[in-house]
Amino acid sequence: MADEFDLIVVGSGPGGYVAAIRGAQLGLKTVVIERDHIGGRCLNKACIPAKAVLRVADVLTEVREAGDYGIEVSEPKVDHAKVAERRDSVISTLTGGVDGLMKKNGIEVIEGAAVLTGNGGLKVGDRELTAKRIVLATGSVRKPLPGLDFGEGIVGTEEAWALDAPPARLAVVGAGASGAEIASAYARLGSTVTLIEAMDRVLPSEDADVSKAAGRGFKKQGIDVLTGNPVSGVESAGGLTTLTVGDKKVEADLVVIAAGRGPDVEGLGLDVAGIKLDDRGLIDVDGAQRTSVEGIWAIGDLVRGPALAHKASDEGIVAVEDSAGMATHPIALTDIPRATFCTPNVSSFGLTEAQAKEAGYDVVVGKVQYGAVGAGTVYGDRTGIVKIVGDRKYGELLGGHICGAKAPELIQELVNAKALEGGYPEIARIVHGHPTLSEALMEAARAADGWLIHG
Ligand SMILES: Cc1cc2nc3c(=O)[nH]c(=O)nc-3n(C[C@H](O)[C@H](O)[C@H](O)COP(=O)(O)OP(=O)(O)OC[C@H]3O[C@@H](n4cnc5c(N)ncnc54)[C@H](O)[C@@H]3O)c2cc1C
Repeated sequence: MADEFDLIVVGSGPGGYVAAIRGAQLGLKTVVIERDHIGGRCLNKACIPAKAVLRVADVLTEVREAGDYGIEVSEPKVDHAKVAERRDSVISTLTGGVDGLMKKNGIEVIEGAAVLTGNGGLKVGDRELTAKRIVLATGSVRKPLPGLDFGEGIVGTEEAWALDAPPARLAVVGAGASGAEIASAYARLGSTVTLIEAMDRVLPSEDADVSKAAGRGFKKQGIDVLTGNPVSGVESAGGLTTLTVGDKKVEADLVVIAAGRGPDVEGLGLDVAGIKLDDRGLIDVDGAQRTSVEGIWAIGDLVRGPALAHKASDEGIVAVEDSAGMATHPIALTDIPRATFCTPNVSSFGLTEAQAKEAGYDVVVGKVQYGAVGAGTVYGDRTGIVKIVGDRKYGELLGGHICGAKAPELIQELVNAKALEGGYPEIARIVHGHPTLSEALMEAARAADGWLIHG
């Protein structure tokens, strides 16, 4: 006999656990199935361990730069065992919190791998479950590159953040968000780092000005940045991996492949259930996250759009509300805030200047450095940049791009303004507190509107 639920959620990452809580709030008898650890990859292996280690690198940088503020300190020593201990304790605090939320909301959690059985139900081991609503939230897995596979001395990003100590020589292949974060953390924590990017610039999906500023910051941290060539050869001997990149040889004790992920659907039984994939191999969904099979929704890294935790959570809410018969709106995927927590911090939303031009807008750009406002100098980051991309016709905000301290926090102002139908002329006239870095956003909006005050 199958156990009956109102809602079954497969996967307990930021997509799955949020979906489950929303279901319970709506009065649905809900179960979450998790094959590994509660909290999913985000909390256990990806976002959270990454940010915990980056935080250590940031503290170290501040201590090293303390002399600029009149504080004399001797060269700090890093206790890598303690760094790993703190990282693990951050993870367990947050996963414990999710566990508590499951209990508080009366959500059953089943440990095991779910397999769809094709009749509106699924199996976990010998246990059969059915529900009118199934939300798939199984996330994504690492992918190798052509000619460069995982193996001894060659790992993925999750393994990179699980290290107990930085390797002496580290090569990071792929300078997107994950690769940039790994390079920036470990370079400051003591590794000699080479960051390899096949495209012609680091963070290639960011606005070109931001890539340039971030690239300068990486070089300042001592990272050897190689752009414009893919890895064309790999040899391993005696614990050392040698990569060929253009006419260069890069020797590394550890290589991290940080170049793409694919949906985690192996063994999930999508074919048995009859769920269709899109042309990129992701689960095909509509604006309410419905799959091709009635009664099954899919969210997060399994479906189109940026692979980000907050996107997964929002999609979970949309899916469950839709399943409960509520009216929902498709998420504006382009306007989801994106953040890279390397140093310098990078964040963005919407279109880059090049994309806006290509889309045929009457593009206007407002650009300022953090140094244009008092806070940039007070807090020691004058070279940070804010760039607003707008459409002149109606003053619409098309995109925002920030490279500098607190960028991931700052971008939200632009995202909110756009969501509330504000344009750059409105941001230019909203009173901002002083001295704050957010004043740089106001000045960039004024620059776009043609009346920059400080600059
Ligand atoms: C190194 C790294 C750093 C990142 N940093 C950030 C960041 O700072 N900010 C950000 O927004 N995003 C970040 N991301 C992306 C983010 O981790 C993902 O977008 C997010 O985890 C997706 O959430 P999800 O709920 O779809 O799946 P996941 O978090 O991947 O969780 C899916 C869960 O489903 C489980 N599962 C899989 N198959 C089954 C099955 N058959 N039965 C039962 N359970 C199953 C898995 O064990 C897993 O626990 C990062 C990613 C990586 C790799």
